[in-house]
Amino acid sequence: MKRILIVYTGGTIGMVRTPNGYAPKEGYFRSALEAIPAIRAEAMPAWELCELSPLLDSSNMTVNEWNKIARLIAENYDRYDGFVVLHGTDTMAYTASALSFMLENLGKPVVLTGSQIPLCEVRSDGCDNILTSLLIAADERVHEVCLYFGGNLLRGNRATKYSADGLIAFVSPNYPPLAEAGISIRYRAGSLLPRPEGALRFQPLENVPIGVIKVFPGIQFSLFESIMTEKLRGIVIETFGAGNIPGDGNALLPIIRRAFEGGTVLTVCSQCPQGAVSLGTYETSSALKRAGAVSGLDITTEAAVAKLYYLFSCGLDRDEIKRRMELPLRGEMTV
Ligand code: ASP
Repeated sequence: MKRILIVYTGGTIGMVRTPNGYAPKEGYFRSALEAIPAIRAEAMPAWELCELSPLLDSSNMTVNEWNKIARLIAENYDRYDGFVVLHGTDTMAYTASALSFMLENLGKPVVLTGSQIPLCEVRSDGCDNILTSLLIAADERVHEVCLYFGGNLLRGNRATKYSADGLIAFVSPNYPPLAEAGISIRYRAGSLLPRPEGALRFQPLENVPIGVIKVFPGIQFSLFESIMTEKLRGIVIETFGAGNIPGDGNALLPIIRRAFEGGTVLTVCSQCPQGAVSLGTYETSSALKRAGAVSGLDITTEAAVAKLYYLFSCGLDRDEIKRRMELPLRGEMTV
């Protein structure tokens, strides 16, 4: 019988009502889990629960929690066949992306899930999300960090939270689902990552100063100069369309060049969820490349942020980080 470790980090799924709104409650989740009909059914894998402390609304997730979760998985890797990480939906795509980079040569399923409605409420979507995630975590076809929600199994570093209140809260705009759970769970063999060759390697992350800048019409780039050139080591710039910045980019380019010369890595992502950055297609983007920025292609902002943390934590030099930002390391981008 397969054995799964459930790591409960917090999030709506295990929250209870408080005078200030929903919040996680230490020591409560086990009883909520045991109350799910079928959680101990014969068709289910065996599972054990590990509750992290403190439990968090995922808005409070930091690199420290990512390290805690990844370390727990690495330390228990040989004892379990798969892992289910219960997590708030707000930053689940960031954590899934971070774990995908931190756990190199992952040969077992790590499935993140949660819910939009807590288990303590009558219409909770948490029951199916947990039961199906446990079945996926016991499936030998999956060797990657993924996110299961509302019937879809997505690659973790391709997922993005799409709906604040819908039960299908996540989408994967640039990569097909890994599986769809209808009457049965239908895997798409061609979409899954192959089993890796080497042994699992856990790379903890450092709290590197990273920034995300979203361009908008009328942006005054000069206001960002000091943080871009002195404070941030990695910047994700969310541009228009295929990588375009306002024509006043003339103000931005010297700043980017100085940031680049100071060792900052600037990655260009798109504000459009679907499609890829293509630096040079328009005049408004080609200068970004000349100034030293790298193309994030079709990577999500969540994955780009996590990848910058990861590559800086690996202790690589700027040119190597730039090179790897444009290469898929865990299936996070399409080249
Ligand atoms: N604020 C909650 C969280 O991310 C939302 C959720 O879990 O759906 O922890």
